[in-house]
Amino acid sequence: MIARNRYVVLLCLSILAHSWGQAQELENSKYGGRPDPFYPIDSWWATPGETRLASGAPGPDYWQQRADYVIDVTLDDDRQKISGRESVQYFNQSAHTLRYIWFQLDQNLYRPDSEGLLGSPAPGLEGRVPFATLRSILARESFQGGFDISEVTDGEGVPLPYKILGTAMRVDLPVPLASGASTEIRIAFDYRVLDAKLIFGRGGYEFFEKDNNYIYEIAQWYPRVAAYTDYSGWQHEPYVGHGEFTLEFGNFVVRITAPADMVVAATGELKNPLAVLSLAQRNRLADAAVADKPLFIVTPDEAKANQSRSSVTDRSTTKTWEFSATNVRDFAFAASRKFIWDAVGHNIGGQRVMAMSYYPIEAEPLWSKYSTAAITHTLDVYSRFTFDYPYPVAISVNGPVFGMEYPMICFNGPRPEADGTYSKATKYGLISVIIHEVGHNWFPMIVNSDERRWTWMDEGLNTFLQYLAEQEWETDYPSTRGEPENITAFMRSTEQRPVMTQSESLLQFGNVAYAKPATALNLLRETILGREVFDFAFKEYARRWKFKRPMPEDFFRTIEDASGVDLDWFWRGWFYSTDHVDVGISNVKLYQIDTSDPDENAEYKRSEKDKKPKSLSVQRNASLTKRVDLEPGLKDFYNDYDELQVSEDDRKTFRKFIDGLNAEERKLIKRKTNFYVITLQNLGGLVTPIPLTIRYDDATSETIRIPAAIWRKDPRSVNKLVITEKNIQQLEIDAQLETADANADNDHWPAKLVPSRFKLFKDEISKNPMQKALQKDSAESKELKESKGSKDEQTQETDPDKKDAISPDADADANVDVDVDVDSDTAKAFDNRESEDRDSGPRSMRRTRIEADR
Ligand SMILES: [Zn+2]
Repeated sequence: MIARNRYVVLLCLSILAHSWGQAQELENSKYGGRPDPFYPIDSWWATPGETRLASGAPGPDYWQQRADYVIDVTLDDDRQKISGRESVQYFNQSAHTLRYIWFQLDQNLYRPDSEGLLGSPAPGLEGRVPFATLRSILARESFQGGFDISEVTDGEGVPLPYKILGTAMRVDLPVPLASGASTEIRIAFDYRVLDAKLIFGRGGYEFFEKDNNYIYEIAQWYPRVAAYTDYSGWQHEPYVGHGEFTLEFGNFVVRITAPADMVVAATGELKNPLAVLSLAQRNRLADAAVADKPLFIVTPDEAKANQSRSSVTDRSTTKTWEFSATNVRDFAFAASRKFIWDAVGHNIGGQRVMAMSYYPIEAEPLWSKYSTAAITHTLDVYSRFTFDYPYPVAISVNGPVFGMEYPMICFNGPRPEADGTYSKATKYGLISVIIHEVGHNWFPMIVNSDERRWTWMDEGLNTFLQYLAEQEWETDYPSTRGEPENITAFMRSTEQRPVMTQSESLLQFGNVAYAKPATALNLLRETILGREVFDFAFKEYARRWKFKRPMPEDFFRTIEDASGVDLDWFWRGWFYSTDHVDVGISNVKLYQIDTSDPDENAEYKRSEKDKKPKSLSVQRNASLTKRVDLEPGLKDFYNDYDELQVSEDDRKTFRKFIDGLNAEERKLIKRKTNFYVITLQNLGGLVTPIPLTIRYDDATSETIRIPAAIWRKDPRSVNKLVITEKNIQQLEIDAQLETADANADNDHWPAKLVPSRFKLFKDEISKNPMQKALQKDSAESKELKESKGSKDEQTQETDPDKKDAISPDADADANVDVDVDVDSDTAKAFDNRESEDRDSGPRSMRRTRIEADR
C-alpha cells in the first residue's frame, strides 16, 4: 500500500517537472529554501526518442541532409574580388517534403545595412583608443561588402525565385522536394574581399606594401546550404559575428583560378598537380610524403623570387587549381605569391596524412620550425583521445586571420618581429593556436555541433583537448586555459552568463565558451571520474557523433551512459549556472570516548580545570582579605568539599557497568580514538568534490577525496567526520589546485597567513604651468646670451609638451590583432562590453574627445 502510494506521488512529480520545462527543482517552502542541486535535469532536455536515444547516441531514426558542391571560382588580385559559380546537388534524406531551401550568405555580414553592424552596441571610446581600433571602426562602417547574387537557377538553367533576408537566402522550388529525392541548384555570385588586417573577419586579405603583394584567406565565401535538422528545422539564425555555423556534409570539387604565379592551398586533395606545380615541386612532394621531417615544396628563396616577380608578371596569366574533398561540411582556401610551402607525410592509423604549412618570409624563422610540427602533434594526440583523423591533408596557413578553422585547413596569425626575434608569448601563442585550429577538425568539422547556437560544444571541447595536447608538447607548457587555478578570478566575476547560452548572448566569450567548459572537463577527468573512465566516455561521444550532428544533451547523456555516473549535478553547476567553487573550513571539533572510569574522569576534569585560565578579576581579587578568613566561624562543610573526589560508591557502580559489558564493548570503551567533525561551508554555490589534505602531528599526511554527494542533504553546510588514532595538526582544501576553488583564504585550518609585498616609489612632482613658463623664459634668456640665432627652433625641440605628440603615420604596421582576444578565434575586433555600463540619462549631448593611443 505504502509503496504504491509513493509510486503515484513520484509519477505526479515527474509529470509536473516535464510540464514546467525549465523547472529548477521541486519547490520547497520549508528547509530555508535550500535548493536540491542533485535534482535530475532531464526535463531541460529534448525528450529522447528513436532519433536521439536516451543513452545519448544517435538512434535508428537518426537522419541528416547532404549537399554536394561543384564550384568554379576566380580570385581577382587587381580588385580583391571573388567571383564564382556553384552547382549544389541537395539530397533530401529527411522524411519531410521541402518546398524551399535556405542558404547561408555569410558575406552579407559585411553589408553596411547588416544586422551584425547595425545591431552592434557602440565600442568603448572612453579614454585612450588605439589607432588600429579607430581605423578598424572607420573601415567597418564604410566597407561595401556582401554577396552580389547574379543568378539562381535549377540544373537546366531555368531561373528559380529567391529571397535574400540578411545573411540568409530562401530559394523556392517549383516542384516540392520529396523525401529521398535530390535537386540541383546553381548560383552565380561575387563579393569584395575585406582587408582582414582592418576589419575583423574569418577570412580576408593582407596587403604587404613593401613588395606589393597579398595573402588571401578565403572562407565562408560561397552560398552554403543551411542545415535542416530534427531539432530546429532550417537553421537560419542570422550570422552576426560570434556564432559560427553548422552545415551539411557532402563532397566538393572546387576549381580555383588565380594568377599563375600564386600558390594555392585548400581543403581537399589537389587533383591536377601536373597543371599547376613544377616538376621539382612534384618531386619534392613525393619525397616529403615519406620523409621523417618537413621538406620545402616551395623554398624561402623561391617564395622571395615569386613575390618580387609580381611587378613584372603579366597579371592576366592564370592557373586553375582543382581540389576535391570527400565528406566535409565546408571548403576554404588560401592563395599568395608570398607562400613558402613545407610538408611531411604523417602516419595516422595506417593512413598517410600530408601535414603542410604555407607562410610568407615574414613568418620565419618561427613557422618552418613549429607549424607543421604542431600539426602532426595535434593529429597524434587528438586521434588518440577521439578517433583517427580521417582526411588526407591537414594544413596551417599564416596570414591576417589570427585563428580560424575549416575542414583540413586553418588560418593562424602569430609571426615574429621584423628582425626575426620573437617573444615567448608569440612562440607558444603560435603552437597553441595551430593545435587549437587543427583540433577543430574533430570538433566541429567532423563532430558537427551547431556552433551558431552552442559555442561551447566545439570551442570548449576543443580547448580541453588543446590543453591535453599542449601538456604533451613539453613539460610546464604555459597553457592559458585548462588549469582550474587559471579560471578562479573569472568564476567569481559577476558579468557572465551560463555556458549553456546562445552564442550571441554570451558575456566574456573566451572565458565562458572556451576556458570554463575546458576546465570543467579537466576537473571531470582528474577529480570526479578519473582518467580511465573519463577517456573511455569522451572517446565514445566522439565515436558516436563522428560525421553526425550532436545536441548538448547528446553529450551530457553519452558521458553519463558510458561512465556509469549520474552527473546531472555537475552539468547543472558548470554548464547551467554561474556559481563558482568556494568551499571553506569553518569549524573543527574533536570528540573522544569517555571511559566512564570515575578516577580517570576526575583526573581529566581536574587537569581541564587547572588548564583553564583565571579571569582578570579573579587574579586581582586573589590578594584581597576575605570575610571567611577574618571570621573563620563562617566556614562549613562546603568550604573544603572537593566535587571531584571519587567515592567508593562511584567505583562500585563503574565496576558493575564494566562487568555488564562483553569483551568487544570493553575494548571499544577503552579505545583511544580521535573523532574530528569538520564543518565545511559551500560559499560559492557550486557543489563540488572536496580533496581534503590532513597533516598529523607525527609529520605524516593523507588526502581524502570527499565526493560531491556530501552536499546532497544540505548544499550550503556539511559536517565531515574524520576518525583517526593520530592528532590532526593542519587541514587544507584543494591542496593540488584541482577544483577551481576561488578563495584560498578559507581553505586552511588553522588559518594560514599568506604574506604579500608592497612596492615603494618616489612621488614625481610635475611642474605647474607657471613654473614651466618661468623655466622657458630663463632658458630663452640664457640662449640669447649664448647665441643670437636659432631661438625658435631650439625651444620647439625642447618643449616637453611636444615630446609625446602623436604622429598618425608613425606605426602603419601596428598590430591590429591586439584588439582580438588572442586566445579566441571568434572574438570581435573590438569589445562592446564597456558600452553597456554607460549612463543613458541626460538628454543633452556630452562631447568627449577620443585620445589616440599607440
Ligand atoms: Zn576555436
